[in-house]
Amino acid sequence: MAVPRILIVGGGYVGMYTALRLQRRLRRGEALVTVADLDSYMTYQPFLPEAAAGNIEARHVVVPLRRVLNRCQILSGRVTQVRLADRKAEFTPHEGPDLTIDYDYLVVAPGSISRLLPVPGLAEHGIGFKTIEEAIALRNHVLGRLDIAASTPDPEVRRKALTFVFVGGGYAGVEALAELEDMAAGALKYFSGLSREDMRWVLVEATDRILPEVGPEMGKWTALQLRERGIEIRMGTLLKSAEGCRIVLSDGEEFDADTLVWTAGVKPNPLVGAGDLPLDKKGRIRVDPCLRVHGTDFAFAAGDSAAVPDLTRPGEFCPPNAQHAVRQAKTLADNLLATLRGEAQRPYRHKYAGSVASLGLYKGVAQIYGRELRGFPAWLMHRTYHLTRMPTFNKKTRILMDWTLGLFFPREIVSLGAIEEPRKEFTLSARS
Ligand SMILES: Cc1cc2nc3c(=O)[nH]c(=O)nc-3n(C[C@H](O)[C@H](O)[C@H](O)COP(=O)(O)OP(=O)(O)OC[C@H]3O[C@@H](n4cnc5c(N)ncnc54)[C@H](O)[C@@H]3O)c2cc1C
Repeated sequence: MAVPRILIVGGGYVGMYTALRLQRRLRRGEALVTVADLDSYMTYQPFLPEAAAGNIEARHVVVPLRRVLNRCQILSGRVTQVRLADRKAEFTPHEGPDLTIDYDYLVVAPGSISRLLPVPGLAEHGIGFKTIEEAIALRNHVLGRLDIAASTPDPEVRRKALTFVFVGGGYAGVEALAELEDMAAGALKYFSGLSREDMRWVLVEATDRILPEVGPEMGKWTALQLRERGIEIRMGTLLKSAEGCRIVLSDGEEFDADTLVWTAGVKPNPLVGAGDLPLDKKGRIRVDPCLRVHGTDFAFAAGDSAAVPDLTRPGEFCPPNAQHAVRQAKTLADNLLATLRGEAQRPYRHKYAGSVASLGLYKGVAQIYGRELRGFPAWLMHRTYHLTRMPTFNKKTRILMDWTLGLFFPREIVSLGAIEEPRKEFTLSARS
């Protein structure tokens, strides 16, 4: 009898943890697991703000799939369509002809993408904050703006370079802004002629609160802390336009800014709509409490791209976060194995425990099981919690080493922005 084939689409939180558990628990010859992802690594997203700030080396927040999933087949490229009807998926490798992948069991976990609004100039000048590439680029960009501002006598150029706008006050936006501001403020002592007052950091948020993940009280406290650091928090405000790097806000204010970071929400990966997966009104894959795709017994989905019923809040769905994604992966892997072995399924159930967020070195905010923490204890909790959650002993150790070295040496202040154009100098030499 042919060995059953399990295809996992997406090697992020859900995909990697599901594959890891299957790899550990499958008996020899029981099934073949293939993981298809755009990248050959899983990104530990909660550490992106610390990677952007240079507290952690960027390579240390990604986990190489080929190393940790050494008993799975890893395919690097884009899955373009998933079909349930004939149990096939279309795959485009980074190079070479497209492939059609046959499967017996399917896991769909391509996560979410930034939810962009039709704001003029946003797509041209904005950047998201979901990937390690974006975190590295932002770090280089912010440090590069300090270089520019310190090297020009032109006040307009300087003002524009030193104006940093973030749109969206969830944990991605708040943590990214707070960590980068902290890093830039610390770096200023090496940039003669520049002071903290020269920099303008603005957080634009459409609702009347920020950081809903830590509850209303802690959200208010966070806004107060950031304002005390000189960060402008514009609640109840929308970004109207960003054409030509000219920021126009809904309250009528206009100014120039070289930096525009968009973190105003996510939406399910559009891949889930490119086949015959059943979707809900928000474009998420419909699944039952056992994480089976609606109407099937061989396909499963979880994470940011799935509408997973939250059994602790009847009628509601689990919010898109890592806390749920990791736990859903465990249930999903167990249920897939149970299906394979003809055993009973188990529903997914987890009560949201709260959240931790870092706001720069030694600063944080947290709300865990109703307990609120502020400042240093929250920051310590953030680091301890995420370190314990970071996959692999190797990465945990490297991150711990990064933090330990950071206690003795200042953060790097070099912008390696030119890395995005590595052939520029060589091409210029060829022309001269
Ligand atoms: C900056 C930031 C900070 C965060 N902090 C926290 C936090 O503190 N706590 C918390 O609980 N959550 C946090 N989150 C949210 C959390 O990271 C996500 O909810 C979680 O990653 C969702 O897991 P997932 O497996 O659904 O998606 P992902 O982990 O995003 O994985 C999706 C994978 O699918 C791959 N993929 C996408 N499209 C395709 C395709 N067409 N073909 C093949 N592969 C594809 C991607 O490359 C990716 O590897 C944070 C997110 C961000 C961006």
